[in-house]
Amino acid sequence: ESLINRIAAGEIIHRPASALKELLENALDAGATSIKVTVKDGGLKLLQIQDNGSGIRKADLPILCERFTTSKLSTFQDISSLTTYGFRGEALASISHVAHLSVVTKTRSESCAWRACYADGVLTPPKPGQTADPKPCAGNDGTLLTVEDLFYNTPTRLAALRSGADEYKRILDVVTHYAVHNSSISFQCKKVHFILVGQAQADVTTPGGSSVVQTVGLLYGNTLSKDLITVTVDKTKVTESLWRADALISNANHQSKKLVLLLFINNRLVDSSRVRRAVEGVYAGILPKGASPFVYLSLLLDPKDVDPNVHPTKKEVHFLNEEAIIECISDHMQSALVKQSS
Ligand code: ADP
Ligand code: MG
Repeated sequence: ESLINRIAAGEIIHRPASALKELLENALDAGATSIKVTVKDGGLKLLQIQDNGSGIRKADLPILCERFTTSKLSTFQDISSLTTYGFRGEALASISHVAHLSVVTKTRSESCAWRACYADGVLTPPKPGQTADPKPCAGNDGTLLTVEDLFYNTPTRLAALRSGADEYKRILDVVTHYAVHNSSISFQCKKVHFILVGQAQADVTTPGGSSVVQTVGLLYGNTLSKDLITVTVDKTKVTESLWRADALISNANHQSKKLVLLLFINNRLVDSSRVRRAVEGVYAGILPKGASPFVYLSLLLDPKDVDPNVHPTKKEVHFLNEEAIIECISDHMQSALVKQSS
Protein backbone atom coordinates (compact mmCIF):
# COMPACT_ATOMS: atom_id res chain seq x y z
CA GLU A 1 0.00 0.00 0.00
CA SER A 2 2.77 2.44 0.80
CA LEU A 3 4.31 1.78 -2.62
CA ILE A 4 1.03 2.71 -4.29
CA ASN A 5 0.88 5.84 -2.15
CA ARG A 6 4.38 6.75 -3.17
CA ILE A 7 3.59 6.29 -6.85
CA ALA A 8 0.47 8.39 -6.46
CA ALA A 9 2.46 11.06 -4.64
CA GLY A 10 4.99 11.12 -7.46
CA GLU A 11 2.14 11.90 -9.86
CA ILE A 12 1.42 15.06 -7.89
CA ILE A 13 4.88 16.03 -6.70
CA HIS A 14 7.16 15.72 -9.72
CA ARG A 15 10.07 17.72 -8.44
CA PRO A 16 11.00 20.22 -5.73
CA ALA A 17 9.43 23.09 -7.69
CA SER A 18 6.05 21.34 -7.83
CA ALA A 19 6.13 20.76 -4.07
CA LEU A 20 7.03 24.40 -3.58
CA LYS A 21 4.13 25.53 -5.76
CA GLU A 22 1.68 23.66 -3.53
CA LEU A 23 3.27 25.05 -0.38
CA LEU A 24 3.23 28.62 -1.71
CA GLU A 25 -0.45 28.28 -2.55
CA ASN A 26 -1.20 27.01 0.93
CA ALA A 27 0.62 29.99 2.44
CA LEU A 28 -1.32 32.35 0.15
CA ASP A 29 -4.58 30.58 1.06
CA ALA A 30 -3.69 31.16 4.72
CA GLY A 31 -3.56 34.90 4.07
CA ALA A 32 0.18 35.32 4.47
CA THR A 33 1.69 38.72 3.66
CA SER A 34 5.25 37.46 3.95
CA ILE A 35 6.60 34.20 2.55
CA LYS A 36 10.20 33.10 2.95
CA VAL A 37 11.66 30.13 1.13
CA THR A 38 14.94 28.43 2.06
CA VAL A 39 16.44 25.79 -0.19
CA LYS A 40 19.28 23.31 0.11
CA ASP A 41 20.53 21.29 -2.86
CA GLY A 42 17.80 22.46 -5.21
CA GLY A 43 15.13 21.57 -2.65
CA LEU A 44 16.08 17.91 -2.56
CA LYS A 45 17.84 18.19 0.78
CA LEU A 46 15.69 20.94 2.23
CA LEU A 47 12.69 23.00 1.19
CA GLN A 48 11.43 25.30 3.89
CA ILE A 49 8.60 27.81 3.75
CA GLN A 50 7.92 30.29 6.50
CA ASP A 51 4.68 32.23 6.28
CA ASN A 52 2.92 34.68 8.58
CA GLY A 53 -0.55 33.43 7.70
CA SER A 54 -3.36 32.08 9.84
CA GLY A 55 -1.43 29.14 11.25
CA ILE A 56 -2.95 25.71 11.73
CA ARG A 57 -5.03 24.91 14.80
CA LYS A 58 -3.53 22.28 17.06
CA ALA A 59 -6.71 20.22 16.72
CA ASP A 60 -6.22 20.04 12.95
CA LEU A 61 -2.65 18.80 13.10
CA PRO A 62 -3.47 15.08 13.36
CA ILE A 63 -5.38 15.17 10.05
CA LEU A 64 -3.18 17.68 8.20
CA CYS A 65 -1.70 15.07 5.89
CA GLU A 66 -4.77 12.93 5.53
CA ARG A 67 -6.16 12.53 2.04
CA PHE A 68 -9.53 14.11 1.54
CA THR A 69 -10.44 11.77 -1.26
CA THR A 70 -9.73 8.11 -1.04
CA SER A 71 -8.02 6.62 -4.00
CA LYS A 72 -9.99 3.93 -5.77
CA LEU A 73 -6.80 2.44 -7.02
CA SER A 74 -6.99 -1.33 -6.66
CA THR A 75 -4.48 -2.72 -9.07
CA PHE A 76 -1.21 -1.52 -10.44
CA GLN A 77 -2.72 -1.30 -13.95
CA ASP A 78 -4.96 1.50 -12.75
CA ILE A 79 -2.01 3.84 -12.60
CA SER A 80 -3.07 5.58 -15.83
CA SER A 81 -6.39 6.56 -14.30
CA LEU A 82 -4.69 8.42 -11.47
CA THR A 83 -4.32 11.53 -13.53
CA THR A 84 -8.08 11.81 -13.84
CA TYR A 85 -8.77 11.99 -10.12
CA GLY A 86 -9.40 15.19 -8.25
CA PHE A 87 -6.28 15.86 -6.27
CA ARG A 88 -7.31 18.76 -4.14
CA GLY A 89 -6.48 18.29 -0.50
CA GLU A 90 -3.67 15.95 -1.33
CA ALA A 91 -0.58 18.08 -1.54
CA LEU A 92 0.65 17.68 2.01
CA ALA A 93 -0.46 14.05 2.08
CA SER A 94 1.56 13.42 -1.06
CA ILE A 95 4.64 15.20 0.23
CA SER A 96 4.51 13.16 3.45
CA HIS A 97 4.75 9.98 1.37
CA VAL A 98 7.92 11.00 -0.45
CA ALA A 99 9.78 13.16 2.07
CA HIS A 100 10.27 13.93 5.73
CA LEU A 101 7.72 16.59 6.52
CA SER A 102 7.47 18.65 9.66
CA VAL A 103 5.53 21.72 10.66
CA VAL A 104 5.81 24.38 13.34
CA THR A 105 2.66 26.43 13.43
CA LYS A 106 0.89 28.96 15.60
CA THR A 107 -2.49 30.61 15.26
CA ARG A 108 -3.02 34.10 16.68
CA SER A 109 -5.15 32.70 19.50
CA GLU A 110 -2.74 30.04 20.66
CA SER A 111 -0.15 30.97 23.30
CA CYS A 112 2.60 28.76 21.91
CA ALA A 113 3.47 27.10 18.64
CA TRP A 114 3.10 23.38 17.95
CA ARG A 115 5.51 21.13 16.18
CA ALA A 116 4.43 18.00 14.37
CA CYS A 117 6.18 15.50 12.09
CA TYR A 118 4.59 13.34 9.41
CA ALA A 119 5.31 10.17 7.51
CA ASP A 120 3.01 8.43 5.05
CA GLY A 121 0.05 10.66 5.83
CA VAL A 122 0.08 10.40 9.62
CA LEU A 123 1.79 11.94 12.63
CA THR A 124 5.11 10.34 13.44
CA PRO A 125 7.46 10.71 16.43
CA PRO A 126 10.11 13.41 15.86
CA LYS A 127 12.69 11.10 17.43
CA PRO A 128 12.65 7.38 18.19
CA GLY A 129 11.14 6.76 21.60
CA GLN A 130 9.02 9.92 21.54
CA THR A 131 5.27 10.04 21.03
CA ALA A 132 3.79 11.17 17.73
CA ASP A 133 1.47 13.85 19.08
CA PRO A 134 2.24 17.56 18.46
CA LYS A 135 4.71 19.10 20.90
CA PRO A 136 4.54 22.68 22.20
CA CYS A 137 7.47 24.85 21.13
CA ALA A 138 8.51 28.42 20.43
CA GLY A 139 7.42 29.87 17.11
CA ASN A 140 6.01 32.87 15.33
CA ASP A 141 2.43 33.38 14.24
CA GLY A 142 2.01 31.49 11.00
CA THR A 143 3.49 28.30 9.65
CA LEU A 144 6.98 26.98 9.11
CA LEU A 145 6.88 23.96 6.87
CA THR A 146 9.99 21.85 6.36
CA VAL A 147 10.37 19.24 3.65
CA GLU A 148 13.56 17.20 3.91
CA ASP A 149 15.12 14.51 1.75
CA LEU A 150 12.50 14.72 -0.99
CA PHE A 151 12.18 11.43 -2.93
CA TYR A 152 14.48 9.59 -0.49
CA ASN A 153 12.22 6.55 -0.89
CA THR A 154 11.61 6.85 -4.64
CA PRO A 155 15.05 6.43 -6.24
CA THR A 156 13.66 6.43 -9.79
CA ARG A 157 12.06 9.81 -9.30
CA LEU A 158 15.25 11.13 -7.75
CA ALA A 159 17.34 9.79 -10.61
CA ALA A 160 15.09 11.54 -13.15
CA LEU A 161 16.09 14.95 -11.78
CA ARG A 162 19.15 16.41 -13.35
CA SER A 163 20.91 18.55 -10.79
CA GLY A 164 20.39 20.64 -7.69
CA ALA A 165 21.34 23.73 -9.68
CA ASP A 166 18.72 22.97 -12.32
CA GLU A 167 16.04 22.34 -9.69
CA TYR A 168 16.96 25.55 -7.92
CA LYS A 169 16.47 27.49 -11.15
CA ARG A 170 12.96 26.07 -11.41
CA ILE A 171 12.30 26.98 -7.79
CA LEU A 172 13.43 30.56 -8.41
CA ASP A 173 11.11 30.71 -11.43
CA VAL A 174 8.14 29.57 -9.36
CA VAL A 175 8.88 32.09 -6.59
CA THR A 176 9.46 34.87 -9.13
CA HIS A 177 6.20 34.16 -10.93
CA TYR A 178 4.14 34.01 -7.75
CA ALA A 179 5.87 37.19 -6.50
CA VAL A 180 4.80 39.02 -9.67
CA HIS A 181 1.24 37.75 -9.49
CA ASN A 182 0.99 38.51 -5.76
CA SER A 183 2.81 41.84 -5.78
CA SER A 184 1.21 42.97 -2.52
CA ILE A 185 2.95 40.12 -0.70
CA SER A 186 6.59 40.00 0.29
CA PHE A 187 8.55 37.04 -1.03
CA GLN A 188 12.05 35.85 -0.34
CA CYS A 189 13.97 32.90 -1.69
CA LYS A 190 17.48 31.88 -0.79
CA LYS A 191 19.67 28.84 -0.90
CA VAL A 192 21.90 27.71 1.91
CA HIS A 193 24.87 25.36 1.94
CA PHE A 194 26.10 23.07 4.64
CA ILE A 195 29.44 24.80 4.93
CA LEU A 196 28.06 28.31 4.84
CA VAL A 197 27.87 30.01 8.22
CA GLY A 198 25.61 32.98 8.70
CA GLN A 199 22.87 34.41 6.53
CA ALA A 200 22.90 33.66 2.85
CA GLN A 201 21.93 36.42 0.47
CA ALA A 202 18.45 36.05 -0.95
CA ASP A 203 18.22 35.47 -4.70
CA VAL A 204 14.70 36.82 -4.90
CA THR A 205 13.34 39.50 -2.59
CA THR A 206 10.21 41.53 -3.06
CA PRO A 207 9.00 44.10 -0.55
CA GLY A 208 5.28 43.44 -0.95
CA GLY A 209 2.82 46.31 -1.17
CA SER A 210 3.85 47.08 -4.74
CA SER A 211 2.15 46.96 -8.09
CA VAL A 212 2.65 44.15 -10.56
CA VAL A 213 4.58 46.51 -12.85
CA GLN A 214 6.91 47.56 -10.02
CA THR A 215 7.52 43.93 -9.14
CA VAL A 216 8.28 43.05 -12.76
CA GLY A 217 10.74 45.95 -12.75
CA LEU A 218 12.40 44.65 -9.63
CA LEU A 219 12.67 41.07 -10.83
CA TYR A 220 13.15 41.47 -14.58
CA GLY A 221 14.62 44.94 -14.85
CA ASN A 222 13.25 48.45 -15.36
CA THR A 223 14.05 48.47 -19.07
CA LEU A 224 11.32 45.93 -19.46
CA SER A 225 8.86 47.22 -16.90
CA LYS A 226 8.79 50.83 -18.14
CA ASP A 227 7.68 49.69 -21.59
CA LEU A 228 4.98 47.26 -20.49
CA ILE A 229 1.56 47.64 -22.05
CA THR A 230 -1.54 46.87 -20.01
CA VAL A 231 -4.19 44.77 -21.72
CA THR A 232 -7.52 44.14 -20.04
CA VAL A 233 -10.37 42.10 -21.39
CA ASP A 234 -13.46 42.28 -19.26
CA LYS A 235 -17.08 41.25 -19.59
CA THR A 236 -16.52 40.21 -23.14
CA LYS A 237 -19.48 38.57 -24.74
CA VAL A 238 -17.38 36.07 -26.62
CA THR A 239 -18.70 33.23 -24.55
CA GLU A 240 -21.67 32.61 -22.32
CA SER A 241 -19.65 32.57 -19.14
CA LEU A 242 -18.07 35.48 -17.38
CA TRP A 243 -14.34 35.70 -17.58
CA ARG A 244 -11.65 38.32 -17.36
CA ALA A 245 -8.08 38.65 -18.50
CA ASP A 246 -5.42 41.03 -17.20
CA ALA A 247 -2.15 41.13 -19.02
CA LEU A 248 1.10 43.03 -19.09
CA ILE A 249 2.96 42.61 -22.32
CA SER A 250 6.28 43.89 -23.52
CA ASN A 251 6.16 46.16 -26.50
CA ALA A 252 7.60 45.12 -29.81
CA ASN A 253 10.96 46.70 -29.02
CA HIS A 254 11.66 44.44 -26.15
CA GLN A 255 14.02 41.61 -26.86
CA SER A 256 14.82 38.85 -24.46
CA LYS A 257 16.65 35.69 -25.23
CA LYS A 258 13.80 33.43 -24.27
CA LEU A 259 10.03 33.61 -24.23
CA VAL A 260 8.92 34.60 -20.76
CA LEU A 261 5.28 33.70 -20.20
CA LEU A 262 3.75 34.00 -16.77
CA LEU A 263 0.32 32.41 -16.99
CA PHE A 264 -2.07 32.28 -14.08
CA ILE A 265 -5.52 30.76 -14.31
CA ASN A 266 -7.66 31.50 -11.29
CA ASN A 267 -4.52 32.54 -9.44
CA ARG A 268 -2.78 29.28 -10.07
CA LEU A 269 0.45 29.14 -12.04
CA VAL A 270 -0.19 26.89 -15.03
CA ASP A 271 1.05 26.15 -18.48
CA SER A 272 -0.95 25.91 -21.67
CA SER A 273 0.70 25.18 -24.97
CA ARG A 274 -2.30 26.74 -26.74
CA VAL A 275 -1.87 30.02 -24.90
CA ARG A 276 1.87 29.84 -25.50
CA ARG A 277 1.36 29.35 -29.23
CA ALA A 278 -1.21 32.13 -29.40
CA VAL A 279 1.14 34.53 -27.65
CA GLU A 280 3.93 33.64 -30.02
CA GLY A 281 1.50 34.22 -32.87
CA VAL A 282 0.71 37.72 -31.61
CA TYR A 283 4.38 38.69 -31.79
CA ALA A 284 5.17 36.84 -34.99
CA GLY A 285 5.92 39.36 -37.69
CA ILE A 286 6.25 42.17 -35.16
CA LEU A 287 9.44 41.04 -33.53
CA PRO A 288 12.68 40.41 -35.34
CA LYS A 289 13.44 36.74 -35.70
CA GLY A 290 14.86 35.26 -32.53
CA ALA A 291 13.51 37.95 -30.22
CA SER A 292 10.89 36.96 -27.72
CA PRO A 293 8.33 38.77 -25.65
CA PHE A 294 7.55 38.98 -21.98
CA VAL A 295 3.90 38.27 -21.25
CA TYR A 296 2.20 38.15 -17.88
CA LEU A 297 -1.37 36.92 -18.23
CA SER A 298 -3.84 36.42 -15.42
CA LEU A 299 -7.05 34.74 -16.45
CA LEU A 300 -10.06 34.55 -14.19
CA LEU A 301 -12.57 31.93 -15.25
CA ASP A 302 -15.69 30.50 -13.73
CA PRO A 303 -14.23 27.53 -11.76
CA LYS A 304 -16.84 25.27 -13.31
CA ASP A 305 -15.35 26.03 -16.73
CA VAL A 306 -11.92 24.78 -15.78
CA ASP A 307 -11.66 21.07 -16.42
CA PRO A 308 -12.10 19.51 -12.98
CA ASN A 309 -10.62 16.27 -14.18
CA VAL A 310 -7.39 17.92 -15.04
CA HIS A 311 -4.80 17.32 -12.44
CA PRO A 312 -4.17 20.60 -10.63
CA THR A 313 -0.44 20.09 -10.78
CA LYS A 314 -0.44 18.96 -14.35
CA LYS A 315 1.34 21.34 -16.64
CA GLU A 316 -1.35 21.52 -19.28
CA VAL A 317 -4.60 23.12 -18.29
CA HIS A 318 -7.81 23.15 -20.32
CA PHE A 319 -10.97 25.16 -19.99
CA LEU A 320 -14.32 25.70 -21.62
CA ASN A 321 -14.36 27.84 -24.77
CA GLU A 322 -10.61 27.79 -24.72
CA GLU A 323 -10.20 28.63 -28.38
CA ALA A 324 -12.61 31.58 -28.38
CA ILE A 325 -11.17 33.04 -25.20
CA ILE A 326 -7.57 32.71 -26.33
CA GLU A 327 -8.41 34.25 -29.69
CA CYS A 328 -10.14 37.17 -28.03
CA ILE A 329 -7.17 37.83 -25.75
CA SER A 330 -4.73 37.54 -28.66
CA ASP A 331 -6.76 40.09 -30.64
CA HIS A 332 -6.67 42.54 -27.76
CA MET A 333 -2.92 42.05 -27.37
CA GLN A 334 -2.36 42.49 -31.08
CA SER A 335 -4.29 45.78 -31.28
CA ALA A 336 -2.56 47.08 -28.15
CA LEU A 337 0.80 46.42 -29.78
CA VAL A 338 -0.26 47.98 -33.07
CA LYS A 339 -1.63 51.07 -31.28
CA GLN A 340 1.62 51.37 -29.32
CA SER A 341 3.83 51.27 -32.38
CA SER A 342 1.78 53.73 -34.45
P1 ADP B 1 -5.55 21.84 0.09
O1 ADP B 1 -4.70 23.08 0.05
O2 ADP B 1 -6.00 21.45 -1.25
O3 ADP B 1 -6.68 21.93 1.07
P2 ADP B 1 -3.17 20.67 1.18
O4 ADP B 1 -2.71 19.28 1.39
O5 ADP B 1 -2.31 21.54 0.33
O6 ADP B 1 -4.61 20.63 0.60
O7 ADP B 1 -3.34 21.35 2.59
C1 ADP B 1 -4.21 20.78 3.52
C2 ADP B 1 -4.75 21.79 4.50
O8 ADP B 1 -3.74 22.17 5.45
C3 ADP B 1 -5.20 23.11 3.89
O9 ADP B 1 -6.53 23.02 3.45
C4 ADP B 1 -5.07 24.06 5.07
O10 ADP B 1 -6.21 23.99 5.89
C5 ADP B 1 -3.90 23.50 5.85
N1 ADP B 1 -2.66 24.22 5.56
C6 ADP B 1 -1.65 23.78 4.76
N2 ADP B 1 -0.64 24.66 4.70
C7 ADP B 1 -1.02 25.71 5.48
C8 ADP B 1 -0.40 26.97 5.83
N3 ADP B 1 0.80 27.33 5.35
N4 ADP B 1 -1.09 27.78 6.69
C9 ADP B 1 -2.29 27.42 7.16
N5 ADP B 1 -2.92 26.26 6.87
C10 ADP B 1 -2.30 25.42 6.04
MG1 MG C 1 -2.94 23.13 -1.01
